[in-house]
Amino acid sequence: MPKGRAGSSNRADDNRLPWDLLGELLFDSPAHLAALFNAADRMLRHSRGLAEWSVFPQPDASGIALEALFPAEQAAEFALRLDEARKTGHPQRVKTGWLPGLRANLHFEWSMRSVPGANGWVLATAERTLQEVPPVGPSAISLSQDLLIQVMQTTPNLLYVVDLAERRTLFINRNPVEMLGYPPGKYDGDFFAFFERNLHPDDQRPALEHRRKLADMADGSVHELEFRVLDGAGNWRWVLSRDTPFKRGPDGRVTQVLGIAQDISQRRAAEDFQVRLTEIIESTPDVVATFRADLKLTYLNWAGRDLLGLHTDHPARYDLQHFGPAWAIELIQREAIPAALRIGFWTGEAALLAADGSEVPVSLVVLAHPSSSAEVEYLSLVARDIREMRRMQRELSRSRDELERRVYERTEELRRSEALYRSLAEAAPDLVVVIARDGNVEYANQVALRAFGVSLDQMIGRNMSQIFPPEITASQQAGVDEVFATGQSQLFEIHSPRPDGDSWHDTILVPIHDEDGAITGVLVVARDVTQRKMMEDELHKSRQLLQLVLDNIPQRVFWKDLSRKFLGANQPFLTDMGLASLQDLVGRTDAELLSKEFADWYDASDRQVLESGQPILGFEEPQARLDGGTNWLRSSKMPLRDLEGRIFGVLGTYEDITEIRAARDQLAEKNLELVRSNAELAQFAYIASHDLQEPLRMVSSYAQLLQRRYQGTLDERGEKYLGYIVDGAGRMGQLILDLLTYSRVGTRGLNLHPVDTRQAVARALFNLQVAIKEAGAQVRVGELPTIHGDETQLMQLFQNLIGNAIKFRRAEAPLVEISAQRDGELWRFAVRDNGIGIDEQYFDRIFEVFSRLHGREDYAGTGIGLAVCKKIVVRHGGKIWVESKQGEGSMFFFTLPALAEAANGDERA
Ligand code: ADP
Repeated sequence: MPKGRAGSSNRADDNRLPWDLLGELLFDSPAHLAALFNAADRMLRHSRGLAEWSVFPQPDASGIALEALFPAEQAAEFALRLDEARKTGHPQRVKTGWLPGLRANLHFEWSMRSVPGANGWVLATAERTLQEVPPVGPSAISLSQDLLIQVMQTTPNLLYVVDLAERRTLFINRNPVEMLGYPPGKYDGDFFAFFERNLHPDDQRPALEHRRKLADMADGSVHELEFRVLDGAGNWRWVLSRDTPFKRGPDGRVTQVLGIAQDISQRRAAEDFQVRLTEIIESTPDVVATFRADLKLTYLNWAGRDLLGLHTDHPARYDLQHFGPAWAIELIQREAIPAALRIGFWTGEAALLAADGSEVPVSLVVLAHPSSSAEVEYLSLVARDIREMRRMQRELSRSRDELERRVYERTEELRRSEALYRSLAEAAPDLVVVIARDGNVEYANQVALRAFGVSLDQMIGRNMSQIFPPEITASQQAGVDEVFATGQSQLFEIHSPRPDGDSWHDTILVPIHDEDGAITGVLVVARDVTQRKMMEDELHKSRQLLQLVLDNIPQRVFWKDLSRKFLGANQPFLTDMGLASLQDLVGRTDAELLSKEFADWYDASDRQVLESGQPILGFEEPQARLDGGTNWLRSSKMPLRDLEGRIFGVLGTYEDITEIRAARDQLAEKNLELVRSNAELAQFAYIASHDLQEPLRMVSSYAQLLQRRYQGTLDERGEKYLGYIVDGAGRMGQLILDLLTYSRVGTRGLNLHPVDTRQAVARALFNLQVAIKEAGAQVRVGELPTIHGDETQLMQLFQNLIGNAIKFRRAEAPLVEISAQRDGELWRFAVRDNGIGIDEQYFDRIFEVFSRLHGREDYAGTGIGLAVCKKIVVRHGGKIWVESKQGEGSMFFFTLPALAEAANGDERA
């Protein structure tokens, strides 16, 4: 602040208020926006701060009409407020733009008060400026002191004079405590102290420094300080103080300071806001640009500078034309700006010209602020690069098309495969169920429905546990959980015990994936394997049984494959081979287990069976014993055939006949011996009886001769003795004859022919005719067959039996019946009598040689007859026995083989 006149005046009197200076202070402050209006609404004077924004230099400002300062309607509003302030004496507020200098974006918030006793003068102060304004020349107008006092009391700002040394306020235009909204009585009168007490801690140090400098201030200089002070509501208020030297001491240092303090809280808030706003705009990826009415650039944010490659040190070098291709600029001018003027904004798509000359498609917002004349006052563009968006749109629509196509194809495919799978599942003999993640049944085929005895409605959407029997649910649930947890298929067997027979199912659980690979369900396929299971069980049982049988028979059993490797064997065979277990045998050959001699031996018969397909039964072969000896075996080998009849191996069985063989050999030897000794015996008996006949016949002949010739010459005793000799010789002859007969039956070969047994009986009866006659016996002969036999012997047989039937008679005349009955392969003959009968205890004995039941005195005989009968019957391959009761007659039976061809009765001649 250049000092001249002001400097000299304020030094005139220490105690007088520096009115000129105060006036200067009021209107000279570049920070202070103030204007003084007279009763005719003319601006008498305006502050330097306001002049900065106007085209009116301060000295010429007097008498400027409101219309020259504000847009027309605002000028009227301003006039209304001025009047109101004068009439009511209350402060008035009004917002206006600012016309002078076409500062299009200036807005003021005025606060006006009428100046008391000043004939309608009103002081208007404003909050606006954000910029430091360079100082201009001092005011030429000086105001009267009274008026100045009035003005000073009108201003909302503090005007003060303080003594630096005494730290005391000498003058203050109004109470600062009131200004800051403190209740009355808070201010102790010391201005310094008050501010120091209520200063923001961060501002203490700058305040101290500021005060120190004040003492050395040059004349005309202004020291400013912005600081925060606590207001009555507890908020920090920003205050701007401007101090200038007022009085100096003898040493030339400033002792008193004149200052003005202004509440700039709103300005600071606006500045903060603007800073923040600027930061936001600078950092946005959208292009933000502002233009003046002449479409020269005023501001371009970072995104704009970057995209367009413009350097905005001097933004006004560029205008709208630089921003886009011709068509886009034309669009903005012809369409966007008029529309924005009408409704405030326009949006659409346009293009910007990038630094490399390419067109960048943008979505554009145009804001046009109209002036009072509805012309553009200033213009803002906000543009967003939509290349990426366009590309994405294209991508999106392409991928949407692709997706639609795929969805269609997939749906089609699914529809087809679904139908296919469904019909497959329906046709499957297996039980097919699909279980969803929540455990509910999603699908079940007919087999499943039948198995659980439910309808489709009862099945679908129900939980497994509600449908399946408990024993299935348990294992099934575990399996299903496992599939969901691991994604692995599960295979297991479900056994359901049922009263009507157990059932088994081979069950497989397979995960069902969606397209993303997530498991959405489990496919359950269960196959009824009950039958197989039962067959397996049967097979197992019969195998076990077979093995048991095999292991417990003395017979050794083994079986081999085509290459004569052992497939199996029973325990006795293993024992023979000296092997502990089947494992030691299976897969090996005889060559690996036995000496070459035996291996070759056995292999030969194996080969023969395998090659011929014919069994070899009951052949004998040697076997090396473990102790080094040799056993004899009776072996059989037979081919093993599969279901198709193909030979797949050979089965061998054998038994150890070492002992049998030894016994057989022994027996044969003994038999031979026996035959030999029997023959010798028969020979001996025959020779003996034959050779005995000759001397006996001599004894008998000479005894008879003696009897005849010397009858009457011997005494009675002599005759009696001779009678004994003749009788004994006769019996002996008979005995010898009988013995001869008996031995002949054994030694003579059988002369076998078809024999008509009636003939044999007839010849026997002929031989017996004397006895029959004597006894008056009656003989009845029934139908008798022709058989194969020795006729002489058969005749002898009948003769002995009929003879006995007559001999052992009772008192009455004997009746003998001879009959024959067919019994299968045999004829059973019977000779029945009505004689004395035989006690049961003798039924066997009577067929032995020399066994008789009676004395010679009762019944003659040698006891050989029945023995001969037995021998004859046995030699003919039959049997002989007796049935009888003592005193009730006897019945002798014997059997003889029937003729082979005689199936009917033809043999009965
Ligand atoms: P023998 O007739 O010479 O005594 P046999 O061998 O013919 O010898 O008979 C043995 C015995 O069997 C006879 O002594 C007799 O006691 C008894 N016997 C045989 N045939 C008859 C019969 N038909 N009735 C009763 N006893 C008989």
